[in-house]
Amino acid sequence: MARSVLVVGGAGYIGSHAVKALRTRGDDVVVYDDLSAGHRSAARFATALVEGNIHDLARLRNAMRQYDVDVVMHFAAWASVGESVRDPIGYYRNNVTGSLTVLEAMAGERVPFFVFSSTAAVFGNPVTTPITEDHPKAPINPYGETKLAVERALPHYEKAYEIRSSVLRYFNAAGADPDGDLGEDHAPELHLIPRAIDAAAGRSTFQIFGDDYPTPDGTCLRDYIHVTDLGDAHLLALDALRGGADSSHYNLGNGRPTSVREVVDTIERVVGKPVPAAIAPRREGDPAVLFASSDRIKSELGWRPRFEDVDTIVSTAWRWREAHPSGYGDGARG
Ligand code: UDP
Repeated sequence: MARSVLVVGGAGYIGSHAVKALRTRGDDVVVYDDLSAGHRSAARFATALVEGNIHDLARLRNAMRQYDVDVVMHFAAWASVGESVRDPIGYYRNNVTGSLTVLEAMAGERVPFFVFSSTAAVFGNPVTTPITEDHPKAPINPYGETKLAVERALPHYEKAYEIRSSVLRYFNAAGADPDGDLGEDHAPELHLIPRAIDAAAGRSTFQIFGDDYPTPDGTCLRDYIHVTDLGDAHLLALDALRGGADSSHYNLGNGRPTSVREVVDTIERVVGKPVPAAIAPRREGDPAVLFASSDRIKSELGWRPRFEDVDTIVSTAWRWREAHPSGYGDGARG
């Protein structure tokens, strides 16, 4: 009988999209989430939901045993650069201690495969672009440091406990499920696209953090990748691990640098309304430029993005936000 995938943080933004993709192809999927940031209804595609937090070793181990888990996908983390600068305690506790507890549970239950949500923030300011997997790792904010700390633990956990892993380094996850079933709902919302969409809809104010960067229009360049394409990458990583592949690291982006202003212009076009934007000082911890080479996952695992262009990314985000102006409506922190 096929074994189950435990998706830690599967009620959150990216995790919920991966869960839907896994279930759509027929995998057994158990979501483990404390719903402090995730949303119960975002986890509705899962076979089962276990409510628990990532610091609860016994509960994690029970879930792994009860559902005969062979793969853990670990999405549960705090993921805002600016917030991490203000609250390193929270970031180290959740992203490092929490992840190590998930790994400890896996070691205890002899769960062999781990798919880890990492980030472009492990690289810091790029020395060469596009950023390949081997680019030097020099984070410039606590968020990137916490993800890199876990990445660095993984070879030791593999050697001692035989946990093989696939590390997926997301660039800027964006957009929403093209069927309109799932979307992005954080509270407070700190990410560019949902914030600018809410400003276009007249629901909130919006600021551009810095227009004096050494970039063509002075605003930061980022690499936006559709959340459904990220979900697909998780399925490929899981299949590779189950198929006997070695541990690996993959960068995930579309390889196209897009400025904050270009994103704002796209939102104005898609929504059909202006985005009132004030220019604010640079946000601490922001590199000027981040964009990926995803050649490795394309050539090794056959990953092919389906929703590459920023118009499509913004359109799906807008469609979900328009249909769900208060998100999932359950008041979770998101
Ligand atoms: N940004 C902005 N205004 C906002 C939120 C973000 O100008 O209200 C900028 C931010 O400084 C960065 C880019 O948009 O250059 C993407 O930021 P986001 O927080 O969405 O993702 P990150 O790159 O930090 O992972």
